[in-house]
Amino acid sequence: MRIGLISDIHANLEALEATLQSMNNDHVDEIFFLGDAVGYGASPNEVVGILKEIAAITLAGNHDYAALGLTDIAEFNEDAQESIIWTQKHLTQESRDYLRNFEILTTRDFFTLVHASPLEPLRWHYILTPQHAQIDFRYFHTQICLVGHSHSPMSFLMDPAGKIILSRESPIKLQEGYRYIINVGSVGQPRDGNPKACYAVYDEESRTIEIKRVSYNILKAQDKMFEAGIPDFLADRLMSGI
Ligand code: ZN
Repeated sequence: MRIGLISDIHANLEALEATLQSMNNDHVDEIFFLGDAVGYGASPNEVVGILKEIAAITLAGNHDYAALGLTDIAEFNEDAQESIIWTQKHLTQESRDYLRNFEILTTRDFFTLVHASPLEPLRWHYILTPQHAQIDFRYFHTQICLVGHSHSPMSFLMDPAGKIILSRESPIKLQEGYRYIINVGSVGQPRDGNPKACYAVYDEESRTIEIKRVSYNILKAQDKMFEAGIPDFLADRLMSGI
């Protein structure tokens, strides 16, 4: 069994299509989606339509919630606010209905899945340091917690003595006695300095989680955003990956 783990697509159809192609080559059996289908990009309905077909688990992100009017956008920066208003105008009723069914937090076997953090999932906290992770480890009870939200793939390991280590290594070999918080990166708007779409694959047999990167047609995704009147900054950052 191999599971594709995707997050933060942000209405980037070109990045999602390339990722699907790559997961297909990777012989992924099932796909878990960790939130933020929409916001920023120009293809929200197309992305939602694909998720409907492919995702076995769908979680809500803060942008999905904002697009539905379920979270206050006052905490979003100006560009993000503009893109949410654009998204609200363009989402079809069908897409809205589908997004509304996304879960906030769920568990499957030894995985807890949540968009931002298991600590107060609707407050959308970032897990960026071992200090953050230390608190979050207390708020889930499975061996592994899978998250997105920061758009930077990284993992936090808790060793049997309770020490927390930040790691950017891949693949991650899952070991007995250790616990993990793993950020699977962002399909549609990576921010770790690498503009390639990012996702992860869990392989049951080898008990590994591997981060994968895929090239996609960034220019095409950008053109659609420029044409849609979405703030230039949001299109420009796709090329730099920051
Ligand atoms: Zn996001």
